[in-house]
Amino acid sequence: MSNKNALITGVTGQDGAYLSKLLLEKGYGVHGILARRSTDTLWRLRELGIERDVHLIDGDITDLSSLIRAMEASKADEVYNLGAQSFVGSSWQQPLVTAQVDGVGVINVLEALRVVNKDARFYQASTSEMFGLIQAEHQSETTPFYPRSPYGVAKLMGHWATVNYRESFGIHASSGILFNHESPLRGIEFVTRKVTDGVARIKLGLAKELRLGNIDARRDWGFAGDYVEAMWLMTQQPTGGDYVVATGTTTTVREMCRLAFEHVGLTTEDHVVIDPKFYRPAEVDVLLGDPSKAKQVLGWEPKTDLKTLVAMMVDADLRRLA
Ligand code: GDP
Repeated sequence: MSNKNALITGVTGQDGAYLSKLLLEKGYGVHGILARRSTDTLWRLRELGIERDVHLIDGDITDLSSLIRAMEASKADEVYNLGAQSFVGSSWQQPLVTAQVDGVGVINVLEALRVVNKDARFYQASTSEMFGLIQAEHQSETTPFYPRSPYGVAKLMGHWATVNYRESFGIHASSGILFNHESPLRGIEFVTRKVTDGVARIKLGLAKELRLGNIDARRDWGFAGDYVEAMWLMTQQPTGGDYVVATGTTTTVREMCRLAFEHVGLTTEDHVVIDPKFYRPAEVDVLLGDPSKAKQVLGWEPKTDLKTLVAMMVDADLRRLA
C-alpha cells in the first residue's frame, strides 16, 4: 500500500471519480479541489461510494493562490489536472472561459507545483480533440495537431505547457492524450450518455424520440475506468512523457446508437430524429488512436469493448430512471 498523497483537480468529474477510487484502493491519501457550485457536484463520488474518503479543498484552477494552498495542504506527491470545461459543444459559446480554464488553468497548476514542490509529479488531461482535422489515419504521439474547436485550441496550450515545464524545469510532467472515454458517470451532454439515457427513457415509456446531430462522426471510444489506470501508470515511470490512450477502433455515432437500442430490443430508425441544432460550427469527423506506445512503455491495454461499455451505460440509466 502506498502512503503517498495525490491532488486532483476536476475531482467531481467522471475521470476524477474513477481516478480517486483507483488511488484510494492503492492506499493514497486523495485530495480533490472543489470549485463550489450551486448544483450538486458530488453525485459521482457518491455513486462510487467514496464521497467521505476524498478530502475536498475549496479552490479553483483559475485561482493560483487557492492552488498554492491546496498543494501545501495536501502535501501532494502527485498532481492530476483533470479540471476543465470539457464539453466541445459549449466551447463555441464560452471560448474565453474555456481558454482560461483549459489553457491558462494548466499553467496555474504547474506554477503552484513548481513553487510549492517541484518534485511532485504532474499529469495533464490532454485530448484527442487536439488532432481535430486529422493529419494521419492513426493518431499517435508524433501526429501533428490541428484543433477544430475553442476547446481543442485551449487544450493544446495545456499540452505544450506540460511539455515545456518538463523541458524547462525538469518537472516529472506527463500529458495523456486520451481519446473519448465514457462510463455511466459521463455527463449527459456527451453523445454516448445522451444516447444511453435516451434509450432508457424510450424503453421505459418516458420519451418517444432521441434528437441528435451528426451521427456519421466517428470516435475511438473506451471505458473511463480503464483509462484512469493509464494516468496512474504515467506518473509511476522514471520520467514524464506523452502518451496516446485509445482502443485503436473507431465507430460511428450511428453504430454506437444501434448497440444501445439493440441492447433493449429496439431499433434506431424508429426513434432517432436528426436535428441540425446539434451540428457544430466545425466538426471532427473521425478519430482513431494508436496506443502502441502506452502498451509498450506502460504495459497498458484497454479491457472493455464498446458493446460491453454501451450495455453497462444503458443498464445504469435504466436503473436510475426506474
Ligand atoms: P467530443 O468528441 O468530445 O466532441 O464528444 P461528444 O460526445 O460531445 O461528441 C462526439 C461526436 O458526436 C461529435 O462528432 C458530435 O458532433 C457527434 N454528435 C452527434 N449528435 C450529437 C449530440 O446530440 N450531442 C453531442 N454531444 N454530440 C453529438
